[in-house]
Amino acid sequence: MKTIINKYLLFVLLTMPVASLAALPQGDAVPGGVAVLTVAPADDPQPSVTFQGNRVLTLRDNNEWKAVVGLPLTLKAGDHQVDVMLGRARKTLAFKVSPKEYEAQYLTISNKRLVDPAAEDMPRIEREQVLMNKANATWTPDLMDSLVFDAPSQGPISARFGLRRFFNKQPRASHTGLDIAVPEGTPILAPANGTVIETGDFFFTGNVVFLDHGQGLVTMYIHMSRVDVVKGQTVKRGERLGAVGKTGRTTGPHLHWAVSLNNTRVDPILFLTPAARAAGEKPPASPNKNGKP
Ligand code: ZN
Repeated sequence: MKTIINKYLLFVLLTMPVASLAALPQGDAVPGGVAVLTVAPADDPQPSVTFQGNRVLTLRDNNEWKAVVGLPLTLKAGDHQVDVMLGRARKTLAFKVSPKEYEAQYLTISNKRLVDPAAEDMPRIEREQVLMNKANATWTPDLMDSLVFDAPSQGPISARFGLRRFFNKQPRASHTGLDIAVPEGTPILAPANGTVIETGDFFFTGNVVFLDHGQGLVTMYIHMSRVDVVKGQTVKRGERLGAVGKTGRTTGPHLHWAVSLNNTRVDPILFLTPAARAAGEKPPASPNKNGKP
């Protein structure tokens, strides 16, 4: 009897959908965070959800359709809503966003042209911005993996998402990624299955790779010393994308990793496995002088 029960349990465990095994990022409904909303029962057809005009990721989890909504850093705390289409029925779903204060950070960049670009740099910067906007706005219908990621490089977090940035005392855009302090040449690995949708050597980012993971979930890797993948290539979780470097606007070698959902940059830490998150939050063994932006 005992054996039968054990076999039955094993069967249940093996046949449980992967989606129920912590497939969701950690919900944190703050500006720059992620709202995880219950939209419909799982036996309904897949709902179509939009937030501020952008399509939103949806997936089945625990007998429910969930929407995973990226919240812009500039979003005001308070009441917000997503639009939901269920078959032909349209409804709105309200949710609350809590306030969050992000710290200020002051950095000195010795190459002044990277802080105040010359007029002749502008056409290049604008051209690259178009490519980056297009990459971040990518929508493919199917999710390629779980929404819980491995760390793309193993190392301490040297700058968190959301820092209000000042370069050479001038206010600049907030920090919309997560910095991992690792030496030049450290491998950068795909944190989940994906497709390479853009690569390049851009003015601010240096060598860059964009990965599409499906349904508007896009990740970006910048300041790379080398890129080992090509546009259009599919990559498996753990596959090498390239190596850490200090190309573009940076004070030293590190990986700047960004995560985008519904064309909105959100805090990558919400997507890490608990182990990867704990490893990143461990203080470095010695004070590191690794770069920031
Ligand atoms: Zn950074």
